[in-house]
Amino acid sequence: MSPQNRAEVVVDLDAIAANTAVLRERVGRPLMAVVKADGYGHGLVPAARAALAGGADALGVTVLEEALALRAAGVTAPVLSWQHVPGADYAAGIAADVELSVNAGWALAEVVDAARATGRPAAVQLFVDTGLSREGATREDWPALVEAAVRAEADGDVRVTGLWSHLAYADAPTHPTIAAQVAVFEEATALARGAGLTDARRHLANSAATVALPHTWYDMVRPGVAVYGLDPLGGDPADQGLRPAMTVRARVALTKRVPAGTGVSYGHTHHTAAAANLALVPVGYADGVPRAAGNRAPVLAAGARRTIAGRVCMDQFVLDLGDDELAPGDEVVLWGPGDGGEPTAQDWADVLDTIHYELVTRVGGRFARVHT
Ligand code: PLP
Repeated sequence: MSPQNRAEVVVDLDAIAANTAVLRERVGRPLMAVVKADGYGHGLVPAARAALAGGADALGVTVLEEALALRAAGVTAPVLSWQHVPGADYAAGIAADVELSVNAGWALAEVVDAARATGRPAAVQLFVDTGLSREGATREDWPALVEAAVRAEADGDVRVTGLWSHLAYADAPTHPTIAAQVAVFEEATALARGAGLTDARRHLANSAATVALPHTWYDMVRPGVAVYGLDPLGGDPADQGLRPAMTVRARVALTKRVPAGTGVSYGHTHHTAAAANLALVPVGYADGVPRAAGNRAPVLAAGARRTIAGRVCMDQFVLDLGDDELAPGDEVVLWGPGDGGEPTAQDWADVLDTIHYELVTRVGGRFARVHT
């Protein structure tokens, strides 16, 4: 790694492009790459460009600010943003040609006002809650939302470009809620199309559904985590033709020899079994290395996997190397694709009882981000 950097999140943009191409090829239809949350920690604009280079047809983000940042960077592909609060700057979104997801009649009314103020129709996608109980209009509210959208389209204030929803259990492909959600989606989209919203694309499939549930692909798929090479089903991404794009590594800041029985880090939750070499790794929970990783998560250091010794601190953690040796400046890998002996984000997720999504989106802080 670069000698100037203390710690790096290295992002393999070719892997993002290749993963997108694999998914796009598999589904044989348009693909919206989800690049919200700073491209799942991989960098919003570089991740978006890499996904587009791999054949993505559109980009999805959560908040309008992310969509506007893509436009400011010169990204011209279709962009959908989907989490807005009352008073959101819809006018800026419309002016920047951002598609706006709408969950409710009051939100549609705000979008219509913004479209009139802007002097051009807003592209909107109507979100139906088919059973996740998160975004979207309930089944009961859906017909009224559709009716209002049909009116707004007739008035020239909006163009309805999408009808969409999100699954609760896509990562458990045989779960009965999937069929239930698909049935609601079919009914809701049929109602909207019957009411005249015939140009709208239907989309439902996140990464897990993109790899495992072809009957949910409809007119477009909408993967996020798989674009970054992580297996949405928690298995080996290579089995899906995917390669993890992120490697997280740091350079040893200090080494020391200590006697047997030495307590390590806050609270001395680790003691050396014998005289040992300790190595100080200069990243901590302020950089997105979970505090819970202490005494649990593995790293690759001095040619072997080792568990972090003692508590992760705000700015650093310690490794107990036994009699093995590292020198200041040597590299320690927290996670990466896994083919060089290093742990993967999935390995970390397994021992921390979380999901790789949380790890890659939170790592940051004072890590340098390097795109290769
Ligand atoms: N669609 C919506 C509405 C989402 O919130 C997300 C992310 O959670 C995605 C698609 C992409 O999901 P995944 O990363 O599991 O593919």
